[in-house]
Amino acid sequence: MTLAMALLSGGLDSILAAQVIREQGIAVIGVSFVTPFFKADAAREAARGIGIPLEVLDITDAHLHMLQRPKHGYGRGMNPCIDCHALMLREAGRLMEEKGGAFLVTGEVLGQRPMSQNKRALRIVEREAGYEGRILRPLSAQLLPETVPEQEGLVDRQQLLAITGRSRKQQLELAQRYQITEYLTPAGGCLLTDQIFSRRLKDLFAHEDPPQVRGIELLKVGRHMRLSPATKMVVGRNATDNERIVELLTPDDDLLKVEGYPGPLCLIPHGGSPEEIQQAATICVRYSDAPRDAEITVIWSRGGEQKEITARACLPSLPAGLMI
Ligand code: SF4
Repeated sequence: MTLAMALLSGGLDSILAAQVIREQGIAVIGVSFVTPFFKADAAREAARGIGIPLEVLDITDAHLHMLQRPKHGYGRGMNPCIDCHALMLREAGRLMEEKGGAFLVTGEVLGQRPMSQNKRALRIVEREAGYEGRILRPLSAQLLPETVPEQEGLVDRQQLLAITGRSRKQQLELAQRYQITEYLTPAGGCLLTDQIFSRRLKDLFAHEDPPQVRGIELLKVGRHMRLSPATKMVVGRNATDNERIVELLTPDDDLLKVEGYPGPLCLIPHGGSPEEIQQAATICVRYSDAPRDAEITVIWSRGGEQKEITARACLPSLPAGLMI
């Protein structure tokens, strides 16, 4: 039986693409990826939903390396979709060869995303992945050149589709036909398309070389303020943020907390200078429930050390001006 590897994000298009190929009596294995920017949870659910096996590959190192200097640039955020697709297809292709698969399947739709899903971008992705002619996009296949599996008669081109553009009408009709009700919104699972996250990531890349996974995980938490080129501060917004800050804490970080009043945990990754710690303390008081017009005790700690410092709440313009 012919075997195909289908990139499965958990989005509707990727699920439909796998189903269209399965309808032709071809065995399909799903493949999904994890990095600090996206997870495979939706893909796991989707694979379970349509009853196909799923392989999950952690591509953090390769993805982070590519993300710092994507050959084909970024989208509207820090999303390097062309390079990212090429990387995923390269990894999926390796797995396909290991498993004796004949071709790769993606849910890409021609013209759906102007930058990364036009004919030229699809060709580039194919070339850079190293699998020219062996990447089948069933949803738009009739609008694209014939692929090797079609030429070899493994796939019937007539049963493939000619969907194009941003309208989801045909996909929604297909979803009804296949009774697919649960799926991720397009690009909904990728933090790199989020403008706020992208701004923070850009700042991290400019100040941490090489960027560490811990630094990226921190970008998902709290408010971020840059105190100097070498020093930033993370202020928890709620109990969940504070818990995560504790989980991500390392012995060389400064941690600040107002004493005697509810307030945020404030983290200075890799520690700051005495002046920066003092400034951070005024911000820490500002975001707490402590009175604005009094000297307040702030507990500072680093590693096993701890001491009390005093600070008054800063003016709101200070954190606003430092916000990343
Ligand atoms: S949206 Fe995110 S996961 Fe998807 S191709 Fe672009 S960068 Fe990669």
